[in-house]
Amino acid sequence: MIELNNISKTFGMSQALKSVTLTLQAGKTTVLIGPSGCGKSTLLRLIIGLLEPDNGSVIFSGTPVVQKNVFSMRRKMGYVIQEGGLFPHLTARQNIILMARYLKWSVHSIKKRLDELLELTQFPRDGLERFPVQLSGGQQQRVSLMRALMLDPDVLLLDEPLGALDPMIRADLQTDLKGIFQRLKKTVVLVTHDIGEAGFFGDEIILFREGEIIQQGILEDLILSPADPFVTQFINAQRSSLETVKGDSI
Ligand code: ADP
Ligand code: MG
Repeated sequence: MIELNNISKTFGMSQALKSVTLTLQAGKTTVLIGPSGCGKSTLLRLIIGLLEPDNGSVIFSGTPVVQKNVFSMRRKMGYVIQEGGLFPHLTARQNIILMARYLKWSVHSIKKRLDELLELTQFPRDGLERFPVQLSGGQQQRVSLMRALMLDPDVLLLDEPLGALDPMIRADLQTDLKGIFQRLKKTVVLVTHDIGEAGFFGDEIILFREGEIIQQGILEDLILSPADPFVTQFINAQRSSLETVKGDSI
C-alpha cells in the first residue's frame, strides 16, 4: 500500500531520517514509536507529501508521491495531528465538510457522509455547531477524525492523536478508535511515544531511534527478542504504561 524506499531527510545540521526503508501493509494498523525527535512526525509528513525527501521515494498504491500529484494523493489520505489542527474560526461542521465543499460535493452527499461519521465517532449532533474552543479535548479529536475521514480516504495517518488528552478521556478514545479502525479496515499509521498504546493498536510496531528503524514486529517480539539493548531500555522506561495495555497480560 505505502512503500518508503531509502528515505532520508535532513534539516540544517540534523538528520531527521537516515535511509529508512519500510512497507506499510494495507488494511493493517502500523504504529511508529520512539523517543521525541526520532523522526516520527517527519515520516508522516513525507508520506502525505507535506515534505519532500532529500533522497529516496514514497510509493502510494504503486504511484510515487511527487509534487506533481501531491494534491490528488493527499485526498486519499486522512491526517490527524496531536493538537487536532482544527480551524478555530470554523464550527465543527464547517471544519469537517471543508474539503467536500471545496470539491463541490452535493448537499445531499455531504449530509449523508456527515451522518455516517457522527454515528461512527459517537459525536453528539448538537456539537456540530460549536467552535473548537467550545469542545472538550476528546470531542475535538473526534471532530479531527471526522474531518480526516470525510473524503473516505484509503489511508489514515494519526500523529499522537491522544497525546494531549487526560488519562480517562484517553482510555475511552483509545477503545473507540480501535473499534473504528477494525470497522473501517483502512490502512492506519499511528504515531505514539507510549509503548502501551503501541501494543494496544499495532498489528505491527516500528521502533525508531535517531532517524533509524531499530526493530519492527509485534510487541512480544520487542519484549522477548530485542534487536538492540535500546529496545529493552525503551520498554523498561515505560513499564507502568505496559501494565495498562488492555486485554493482554504480558
Ligand atoms: P518526532 O515526531 O519523533 O518527535 P520529528 O520528526 O518532529 O520527531 O523531528 C525529528 C528531528 O528533525 C528533530 O531533531 C527535529 O528537531 C527536526 N525537525 C523536524 N522538523 C523540522 C523543521 N521543520 N525544521 C528543522 N528541524 C526539524
Ligand atoms: Mg512528533
